[in-house]
Amino acid sequence: MQIHSDLYVGGEWTAATGSNVIEVVNPATEQVIATVPAASTSDADRAVGAARAAFPAWSQLSVEERVNYVERIADALAERSEEIAALISSEQGMPMTNARRVQAGLPIMVMKSFVEIGREFANIEPEHIGHSLVFEEPIGVCTFITPWNYPLHQTIGKVAPALVAGCTMILKPSSETPLNAFLLTDIIDSVGLPAGVFNLVTGAGRTVGEALCVHPEVDMISITGSTEAGARIAELGAPTVKRICQELGGKSANVILNGADLGKAVPAGITGMMLNCGQTCTALTRMIVPRNQQDEVVNLAINALDSLSMGDPTNDEHFLGPLVSASQKSTVQDYIRTGINEGARLVAGGPDDPEGYPAGFYVQPTIFADVKNSMVIAQEEIFGPVLCIIPVDSDDEAIAVANDSPFGLSGAVWAETNERAIDAARKLQTGQVMVNGGRFNPLAPFGGYKTSGNGRELGRAGLDEFLETKAIQLPV
Ligand code: NAD
Repeated sequence: MQIHSDLYVGGEWTAATGSNVIEVVNPATEQVIATVPAASTSDADRAVGAARAAFPAWSQLSVEERVNYVERIADALAERSEEIAALISSEQGMPMTNARRVQAGLPIMVMKSFVEIGREFANIEPEHIGHSLVFEEPIGVCTFITPWNYPLHQTIGKVAPALVAGCTMILKPSSETPLNAFLLTDIIDSVGLPAGVFNLVTGAGRTVGEALCVHPEVDMISITGSTEAGARIAELGAPTVKRICQELGGKSANVILNGADLGKAVPAGITGMMLNCGQTCTALTRMIVPRNQQDEVVNLAINALDSLSMGDPTNDEHFLGPLVSASQKSTVQDYIRTGINEGARLVAGGPDDPEGYPAGFYVQPTIFADVKNSMVIAQEEIFGPVLCIIPVDSDDEAIAVANDSPFGLSGAVWAETNERAIDAARKLQTGQVMVNGGRFNPLAPFGGYKTSGNGRELGRAGLDEFLETKAIQLPV
């Protein structure tokens, strides 16, 4: 049992005000494995004060020196990658094989990518525009609000570029998965990052999270989370005109056009969607298929699902683990019941607890066919292992259905040629599209259209989020 009683403020581990704690539960065993402080709004104030005090010196340091710190953090993360995978698996539930690759491997890769991007940025001269010199400068003090599904990845996607840019920051991680944030903070402390540049405050979104978002000394908020929380945070930041970067929910479409290779497209769609038990913001949860091929798609989908084993996340053989929490499990099972009541055809899984799991928040991976895009299960983000197969009669209808969503985070298109797939991809109102199996690229801009968010993370675009532009007019 890990007991964390301190927050990290101003370069020191300091006790939180009050004695309230948050219990961290292992979703596979339902056992409490740790407690962390439920900080108060006065802790939030202290952390913002420390970040504000650290800003002048940190922002004046050369980019090269800042990037050297990022490199040391990246190296230390890499040394502890197995520990990171096991820790996140224990608090979040992702089985180890995928946790090594995604929960540990991806954030390390992203941290390293910002070493390269930072070194390129260090060499960029101010731009001359006529009689003006244009500089890119750090925006200031940032609040980072992060979720539980890929917790370290989402944190690093903010912390790394912010450090390169010269910003200071306060991280408030999700209460479901705060332990990886303590590990990251331990590393940051060990590399000797100047006091106050990075601060860690744990606690509830509604209290300490809001205090960190409304604070007048905060210049920017970056949130990854639900659309509801993202919209609330934008309201909190509006009176002091903060920059708001929002990475929010999704209900992404996997558009399989007539002529596509179903033998590739369907299994890839199932494996991708079921990764992390569907608790992925970019999950391709709506599979849009030609009506005359729906039966073939259903068979391929069931076969692909059968090949994914579920169980104890510490066992390397398992692909599917439990969902993150009891409440997430009941939300997902309620959605499955809704799908049945709406008249969607259940072809795999269902709302009952899977057999053989006396403990753990396990849910049956579920597939619905004959889904209408107007149904609740096709419109709302379920955030669980539930796939909707939606039959359509033409390419145009497929695109229209894909775009008939309040979200616009991700998508995929499968077609017999890349040209045809790219042509369809250009018509999707979404921040990224995978074409004929194209993989996630941690250097490409990442973010959403519509209610999926504003702003972009990762790569050079992710660094730009943390920069202000200053024009200095010279005498002529
Ligand atoms: P959530 O919105 O419940 O919580 C996210 C974070 O926001 C947590 O740290 C929470 O404490 C905080 N929070 C909630 N209300 C707040 C408030 N009023 N003020 C300040 N902070 C507040 O989301 P979650 O359940 O942790 O994560 C799942 C959601 O995140 C899904 O909707 C998913 O699509 C989304 N997500 C988006 C991306 C992306 O990059 N677009 C990535 C991962 C997850």
